[in-house]
Amino acid sequence: MGKMGNEKVHTISGYHPILKAVADRIVPADAWPSATEVGVLSYIERYVHGNAAIWTEVLEPGLRALQALAFARQGQAFEELSADQQDRLLEELESSDSIRDWPGSAQRFVETVASLAIEGYYGNPEARDSTDNRPWDMLGFRPGTLSNEHSASHEVDLQLTPLNKLKDRYDVIIVGAGAGGSVAAAVLAEAGRSVLVVERGSWLRYAEVGNDHLRNHRLSKYGHNTGPSLAGNPRTIGIDNGEERTTLPYEGDYHNNAMTVGGGTRVYGAQAWRFHADDFRMATRYGIPDGSSLSDWPISFEELEPYYERAEWEVGVSGDSEAHPSYGRRERAYPMPALSRTREAELLARGAAKLGWEVGPVPLLINSIERDGRQACGRCGQCVGFACPTNSKNGGHNTMLVRALATGHCDLICDTIAERIVTENGKHAAGVSLAQEVTGNIVRKQVRAGHVVVAAGAIESARLLLNSSSDAEPDGIGNRNGLVGRNLQGHVYSGAFGLYDEPFQDGLGPGVSIATLRFAHGNGGGIIGGGLLANEFTRLPLIHYYRALAPNAPRWGIAGKDAMRTSYLRTSQLMGPIQEIPNPEARVRLSKTVKDRFGIPVAMLSGSVHPETIRASRMLADKAEEWQWASGARQVWRANPGTGLSGGQHQSGTLRMGEDPASSVTDPSGRVHGYDNLWVCDGSVHVTNGGVNPVLTIMALAFRTADNLVKQP
Ligand SMILES: Cc1cc2nc3c(=O)[nH]c(=O)nc-3n(C[C@H](O)[C@H](O)[C@H](O)COP(=O)(O)OP(=O)(O)OC[C@H]3O[C@@H](n4cnc5c(N)ncnc54)[C@H](O)[C@@H]3O)c2cc1C
Ligand code: SF4
Repeated sequence: MGKMGNEKVHTISGYHPILKAVADRIVPADAWPSATEVGVLSYIERYVHGNAAIWTEVLEPGLRALQALAFARQGQAFEELSADQQDRLLEELESSDSIRDWPGSAQRFVETVASLAIEGYYGNPEARDSTDNRPWDMLGFRPGTLSNEHSASHEVDLQLTPLNKLKDRYDVIIVGAGAGGSVAAAVLAEAGRSVLVVERGSWLRYAEVGNDHLRNHRLSKYGHNTGPSLAGNPRTIGIDNGEERTTLPYEGDYHNNAMTVGGGTRVYGAQAWRFHADDFRMATRYGIPDGSSLSDWPISFEELEPYYERAEWEVGVSGDSEAHPSYGRRERAYPMPALSRTREAELLARGAAKLGWEVGPVPLLINSIERDGRQACGRCGQCVGFACPTNSKNGGHNTMLVRALATGHCDLICDTIAERIVTENGKHAAGVSLAQEVTGNIVRKQVRAGHVVVAAGAIESARLLLNSSSDAEPDGIGNRNGLVGRNLQGHVYSGAFGLYDEPFQDGLGPGVSIATLRFAHGNGGGIIGGGLLANEFTRLPLIHYYRALAPNAPRWGIAGKDAMRTSYLRTSQLMGPIQEIPNPEARVRLSKTVKDRFGIPVAMLSGSVHPETIRASRMLADKAEEWQWASGARQVWRANPGTGLSGGQHQSGTLRMGEDPASSVTDPSGRVHGYDNLWVCDGSVHVTNGGVNPVLTIMALAFRTADNLVKQP
């Protein structure tokens, strides 16, 4: 690094020798290549190109300081030192607060450079696309399908209708083409109604969803792989003193679900659980904890059961119909058998047997056999968070929307936001006001409707109702009692990791393969509602690095590389959602200060989870630890729950259903109280969110609500 010393060098190329030396200490060469041997230097260069501040504020001063330290300690440039000497200097920086002559944090420098080298090594898009990905081969990660082919190119190309071709009026306008909206579209169009589905996201083909390991719905470090786009679509977080903090769509506290055709189902993990019968009568069974709004549903499991069956048969679930008998018996078998068990599931089944726990496969909205002209799951290594390479994952986009469009009665418009529902006298929905951005200009259009179905997901549906105020309802539709947007809930997750002596991960996607519902209701610990424990989906290498390495594992150097290599196929994760105790202070409001690209106030989120929820999730983590030990793990560590607001991918509850308009927003049929033709078909209507993943319940309710609508004169 000849240009160091007092001379200031701003370009990264001037630092190549020292940067290369540092990156190759983070991931050194052994029998497998080093960081820079697989292109990490150009990865960092590209990163710095788009993030100039990281270079000027962190990396450049850090490299200069490191070089100064090398000269001070060893009288030589860093890149000329031995590997041991280099490691010792990096360790010294890592453990010191700051470096002389550099006001920034030395730790931040080491963390940043290490993080970039690791990203470039285990998740570099260039290395990933090569047929010879040495880091992934080293770990045993197989991204593709078993046959290494993909047939998503055969996926149906959905017919879209442009704004200027929309009719002036439809029998029904559905806002949102996600889980609930797509079910409603098929039921209504097949019943002969003229239907318009409005989706703010884009119709993304398999290749457009892509497989970027740093920008997806499982690891969204710099972005995500659906919508909304990062510019012009913020939300805010309400802070105690009345101020707001802006958050972007890929950040955790945005609580995003995928915004694209299919909504969450485009990239989901597809676990297809029914809620337990007692999930519908939580207050009756447990009483109402202080500070909570725990309540019974106005409908029973028995009322919803026929619609669960429809969701399982019409959208398509594979599973073992005899499994989990203590959770509840089924009237009708699943339409497809369960996928074969993974080796990890075999191992965990032996552990559960020692404990005497009932376990079984996980029902999945995934084809285990060829069905409806689409093939069986190709068992690829990157299922959750991505689109399916074999088009075997059953979501709104490739099942119900296809059916709706096939009727010829349904139009689908994308990249168009429903900005407001137009109402008459606070009791009738007359239509929807749409907005679209065309080459930088905002275009607006109002479309009239016989009925409006809101299916925009629990956060955006509440936002839409709040943004649709009128003289009759100045605080927003259905909000006379201030309930719209309250009781936001999702699922707090907890669990435990286990490190085993022998490799057992076979990489067969989706990976989630064994579960127990023993700790739902009747869990023995006085815990309200309990939850589900299941093994985790197949893990991206970077997710393994960030979330699944043992707490005491080295993170860099030869030892760090060895820890990755030896633990990747030997680590199991058990985790699960817990029945959340809703509280009215967890809520969606309108931002007072921030608007989106269309000038519409964005959602402001605030609140946190109820203490009972945290207590319950600690119980689940205890049980996960017990299961890992019983299965033979040699080291076990917990994944503890977060305590902040819970919404995210399992968001629900903001327009809860009930008999009484004083305590609910929608009535038991799924219609907004006081309205004759305004319906809600998404997770918003959930009174409670079950101790399992919610999508099958959202779909079942959408079938029921759409049926109710069809019965209207
Ligand atoms: C990575 C991931 C994994 C998941 N895994 C599972 C799982 O294994 N099992 C499970 O049960 N659930 C899972 N989920 C959650 C599941 O996908 C959601 O519960 C479900 O999709 C929610 O359905 P919904 O109808 O409420 O809303 P969504 O499916 O989110 O659909 C809402 C749609 O409305 C659109 N929209 C929003 N506002 C507007 C507007 N103003 N105008 C027009 N359109 C609008 C959105 O773009 C979106 O497409 C997962 C989700 C993700 C992202
Ligand atoms: S594992 Fe998931 S994404 Fe992969 S082929 Fe099967 S269903 Fe599709």
